[in-house]
Amino acid sequence: MDKKNIDWNQYAIETQAVRSGHHRTREDEHSIPIFATSSYVFDSAEQAALRFSGESAGNIYSRFTNPTVSAFQERLAAMEAGERCLAFSSGMAAIMALCMGLLKAGDHVVSSRSVFGNTVLLFQNFFAKFGVTTDFVDLTDSSAWEAAINPNTRFLFLETPSNPLIEIADIRELADIAHKHDCLLIVDNVFCTPALQKPLQLGADIVVHSTTKYIDGHGRCVGGAVVASDELIEKQIYPFLRTGGATMSPFNAWVFLSGLETLAIRMKAHCENAMALAQWLEDKASVAKVHYPGLSSHAQHELAKQQQTGFGGVISFELTGGRQQAWQLIDKTRLLSITANLGDVKTTITHPATTTHSRLSEQERLKAGITDGLVRISVGLENVKDIKNDLEPGL
Ligand SMILES: *Cc1c(COP(=O)(O)O)cnc(C)c1O
Repeated sequence: MDKKNIDWNQYAIETQAVRSGHHRTREDEHSIPIFATSSYVFDSAEQAALRFSGESAGNIYSRFTNPTVSAFQERLAAMEAGERCLAFSSGMAAIMALCMGLLKAGDHVVSSRSVFGNTVLLFQNFFAKFGVTTDFVDLTDSSAWEAAINPNTRFLFLETPSNPLIEIADIRELADIAHKHDCLLIVDNVFCTPALQKPLQLGADIVVHSTTKYIDGHGRCVGGAVVASDELIEKQIYPFLRTGGATMSPFNAWVFLSGLETLAIRMKAHCENAMALAQWLEDKASVAKVHYPGLSSHAQHELAKQQQTGFGGVISFELTGGRQQAWQLIDKTRLLSITANLGDVKTTITHPATTTHSRLSEQERLKAGITDGLVRISVGLENVKDIKNDLEPGL
């Protein structure tokens, strides 16, 4: 057990990351064990009844209670400065659970246009079937957000920074707009992680994660999480997890627990490499524009400085030579991984127009600023000199 009943809010994120969440068992282990058990045994019929009714706390069945998953949930809640966290089988499962828990037929959602493609499809193709309508607005246009809100709007949904143009939304301003109209603000915090940005402290009501990205950090497991107030989780989200069952496995929770331990130090290194690479790219003749909030040329550089404690590990840039030069640059790399995944210790490179955003029409794509010459790099932890050398031949 814990030496003392520690209030993790008193500690810095690096300390929360390595210490919180572990309730030592009678075996006195130093590292959090994987509880590979689907169910739990009760002392008596009466105890079983009390557990099921919720009158007594404790494990019941691993669809909704598992000590390794609970440790992960406690740790991420502490790091996001939230009251409670629930883990899910993927980032999309976490977003689906939010929708299932919060929405009913006739409700309305306002979402940023620049969110993960499957999030758009979830709203547009699936929740629309159940009578939930969604309007999509420009991430950085706060008057468009407010204008899109109806009396039946339940929540606003956004990612900041966005993918792949790394635009920044003012979380505090949008939280105020949401609350003025009795809506919730949900922030997908995948790009920054709590190491660089804490949306709940800026007024957001709910943070959602794909733990597949930086929280794992090594490209091994798929997972997701939701962090919010005790009340929102207990009344609206947990009942759906318990019944719907998109549960995180204890093995994956164990991998993500160790990912969290090094998150702050990795994010710092990702940011340093990304900054150096962005500055280097900005000086290249074949690069028309670099999108990175750490550069003073970025439209929301000042907002990023206020809202985030680092500028993140993802950059995108436009080549003057269009799609042909973009593909050539990608194909000439020897070290970098050609994959759409991000948040890995290994640098990844992708051409959004023909991969992650290829399902959009050309008109929609150009409206979203995703030109044929745009390349996105999720900067890893290799030595930045080697990353530059790998890109040089294609530039
Ligand atoms: C990957 C990703 C998701 C979806 O997460 P999965 O774990 O792949 O289901 C959601 N939002 C963002 C910003 C992502 O990058």
